[in-house]
Amino acid sequence: MRQEADHSLREGRQGLAILGATGSIGVSTLKVVALHPDRFEVVALSAYQRIDELRALCRELKPAIAVAHAPEAAQALARSLAEEGGATEVWSGAEALERAVRDPRVTTVVCGIVGAAGLKSAWAAVAAGKRVLFANKEPLVMSGHLLLALARESGAELLPLDSEHNAVFQCLPRSRSGLARSGVRRILLTCSGGPFRKTPQSEFARVTPEQACAHPRWSMGRKISVDSATLMNKGLELIEACRLFEATPEQIDVVIHPQSVIHSLVEYIDGSVLAQLGNPDMRTPIAHALGFPDRIEAGVARLDLASIGSLDFEAPDEARFPCLGLARAAAVAGGSAPTALNAANEVAVEAFLARELPFSAIPIVIESVLAKRPVVAAESLEAILEEDGQARAAARAVVDGYRAKGVWAC
Ligand code: NAD
Ligand code: MG
Repeated sequence: MRQEADHSLREGRQGLAILGATGSIGVSTLKVVALHPDRFEVVALSAYQRIDELRALCRELKPAIAVAHAPEAAQALARSLAEEGGATEVWSGAEALERAVRDPRVTTVVCGIVGAAGLKSAWAAVAAGKRVLFANKEPLVMSGHLLLALARESGAELLPLDSEHNAVFQCLPRSRSGLARSGVRRILLTCSGGPFRKTPQSEFARVTPEQACAHPRWSMGRKISVDSATLMNKGLELIEACRLFEATPEQIDVVIHPQSVIHSLVEYIDGSVLAQLGNPDMRTPIAHALGFPDRIEAGVARLDLASIGSLDFEAPDEARFPCLGLARAAAVAGGSAPTALNAANEVAVEAFLARELPFSAIPIVIESVLAKRPVVAAESLEAILEEDGQARAAARAVVDGYRAKGVWAC
């Protein structure tokens, strides 16, 4: 029998929309949420392909809304939940994510979708004045300057979930008076170096998707794992930091720190350098942002410095990892360049994961797209979507050239 669930938000609780609930960020978020039944209520969940996992989450958490990408999958999910007496509404289609984040019961949106696919829902959340927790860095890379302006209008609160940016946020003064007036000299992003930190460049052509996705410190989705292996992840994070903290590319440096214990640092003009440390576990930045300004339990093991022993640092090798330099150049060029960089990277990584492109060609595809695409102003969502489409088409043409030559069989 179908039960009428009470889907009004209980007093004092945050109503959560978790976009990308079945992914690495979504799962970590739900683990933190499970520790705090008095603080959080799951109002909406979304998934792309893992519908069985979404069904299991709906059975357990009974959200008011579930969003599945494909209409057929959504219909099947709605039917099976209704048969079990559940009251979750299941939506699909182009606008479904945007409608879900606008729901009045949603106070906090966790953006855990991967790639530009999360752009419009992130925009909808910011436009609706929600508290928006950004793991999904690609929309910030593409349009963070506009999202910050939009947040100022709507009253939305943007909080970083990406571990480095969450660390920087924790090390910056709370007053939002700009970096210079806060006495900040630079932001130092740490980088594990990825699985190929010591691999000679001559071996990059033979790297397989399995090797690239085997990150030494973090367990993450496949796209960000490949980005970590090329160091494009750090390049995207450099742009993300420029956007979130209204910094110039010159104010951001990257240092390799293989233990991933220091998540990033802020240097002040008096020589002080503040760092945030913790075990490499996304539940810490997620708990920080979910609870902010309170500190809440994350379920993370305590940091044991004596057993870690030493913390190492080295400069990144931009000759072996050209993606970092390409991202910095796109940040300096500004305008549409970060969108073109991101689009080309998404296409190249997808082709690499589909075994259509060698790992070593990822930066070549991106460089060639950046050389082809003129840098234009990117002052509206429409302009950004237009550039995203054009750069993807240009990247696919380069990938097709590789495929036609049949240079890759792994
Ligand atoms: P993932 O691949 O594990 O999960 C991605 C999620 O996005 C899934 O739930 C999937 O259903 C959804 N999704 C994929 N394509 C979609 C589409 N076209 N439309 C709607 N939904 C779609 O990825 P992840 O590792 O959780 O990463 C998510 C985002 O968070 C990325 O932008 C990544 O850079 C960022 N991030 C992740 C980590 C981490 O530790 N995993 C750390 C920092 C930042
Ligand atoms: Mg990160």
